[in-house]
Amino acid sequence: MDAETLRQYLVFYQDLGVQAIYRREAERDSQGGGDAEPPSLPPAGESLLQIREDIGECTRCGLHQGRQKIVFGTGDEKAKLVFVGEGPGADEDLQGIPFVGRAGQLLTQMIEGTAKKEGIPLERKDVYICNVVKCRPPGNRTPEPDEMEICGQFLFRQLSTIRPKAICALGSTAVKALLGRPEGVTRLRGNWYKWRDIPLMVTYHPSYLLRPYNQNAKREAWEDLKKVLHFVYD
Ligand code: SF4
Repeated sequence: MDAETLRQYLVFYQDLGVQAIYRREAERDSQGGGDAEPPSLPPAGESLLQIREDIGECTRCGLHQGRQKIVFGTGDEKAKLVFVGEGPGADEDLQGIPFVGRAGQLLTQMIEGTAKKEGIPLERKDVYICNVVKCRPPGNRTPEPDEMEICGQFLFRQLSTIRPKAICALGSTAVKALLGRPEGVTRLRGNWYKWRDIPLMVTYHPSYLLRPYNQNAKREAWEDLKKVLHFVYD
């Protein structure tokens, strides 16, 4: 890699808030190689398809070892609203589509049910849904910081391409990846923040809402969603 290309990597990933990757790549490079390939620089105005092609049969982090399918994202490339979850579960891993298991069905119900109740013509296919990591963590564990950092670059590129009017971060992993904030969702939910210049709402991950003792959280999540839908579609 020549000095100019390396400089471009540094600027681009610094801009994304990704710091450790290029340092590792740069070190390997200066030592004459290493097996991890640096992620390619996105061309200006890249499409989601190009990002998916760039991911390829990715082995950039350890999560590739246990996956069946990469779960890239689903929905409208021009969506005004993007939901970001944590990572694929068992059903998603098998089908290659995010939020198709029980939590996913609840999310669909929440989106479509709230929209209908609020008089907003909106279906799940009209929004975009993806996760921080694209491969299923073993046993559904929380993704490790390095996995989030490496795979997060693709999430950032997806969001930069779609440029939605708002983002809804579902759960603490999405909050950490997009806001870099350590506080729990209970503290942050219901309020607006920003990812770059895009308004971002924090709410609970639907899998948390499936637990029977979280009825209160369920009501709060519906409230949060109502706010987001009116902000985006009014
Ligand atoms: S989780 Fe992301 S970075 Fe890791 S192997 Fe899968 S696609 Fe690649």
